[in-house]
Amino acid sequence: MNFQFSESFNFATDMTIIDNFKHQGLRRKLVDEIAAKGINDKAVLAAIGKIPRHAFMDNAFIEFAYADKAFPIDAGQTISQPYTVAFQSQLLGISKGEKVLEIGTGSGYQTAVLCELGAKVFSIERHKVLADKARTLLQGMGYMPKIHFGDGFKGLPVFAPFDKVIITCGAPEIPVSLFEQLKPGGLMVIPVGENVQVMKTVLKNANNEMEITDFNTFRFVPMLGDKVR
Ligand code: SAH
Repeated sequence: MNFQFSESFNFATDMTIIDNFKHQGLRRKLVDEIAAKGINDKAVLAAIGKIPRHAFMDNAFIEFAYADKAFPIDAGQTISQPYTVAFQSQLLGISKGEKVLEIGTGSGYQTAVLCELGAKVFSIERHKVLADKARTLLQGMGYMPKIHFGDGFKGLPVFAPFDKVIITCGAPEIPVSLFEQLKPGGLMVIPVGENVQVMKTVLKNANNEMEITDFNTFRFVPMLGDKVR
């Protein structure tokens, strides 16, 4: 992999990424920006402040990496806007050691945030090229999520139940199969809709029923079935 030496981020194995003062400065500004937009979960802000987002983008244009914007990645997909990643992470309210299922690994940036929050992450991506790239990058950074190439609509029944489920693509509806893989008391965070999505939390209550709360609207790439090799 074509990374160079870094003194400032603790990468495992032989992979290194430049993370210089400029990156770190831009990242602090980004944290201030999303805090000003209403993110107040300190652990989430600390994760955004620590993770080198430029390493998740194709050409590592730092100006883009630390703008609060979504950006194209391989396979016609996008790395989500940092505010969106922070908003979903804040809604999830991760406690250390929780089992989290993520649908839509994409670049792996949201996955890194979940790992940094102390979650045991299982992530599914339907594009093989993205799943492979994210797995290598995250492992190189010392994170240990389980990245699965597959169809997220099916979830991972073998590893269920999960404390939390996060969907990072626009879902046509709340997939019952994924709701079933939540523990009682568990929470799903999911953007639902076609062109524009309403962010929803879906709590599985003590009677195993859905308790749905709506938040703001966002724009995600669509959640689609079947794998793409
Ligand atoms: N959190 C990611 C977002 C990537 S965009 C990031 O910040 O990089 C959403 C991703 O969901 C895309 O990579 C897309 O390929 C994936 N996706 C869409 N439908 C899916 C499905 N049914 N199963 C798994 N992944 C899916």
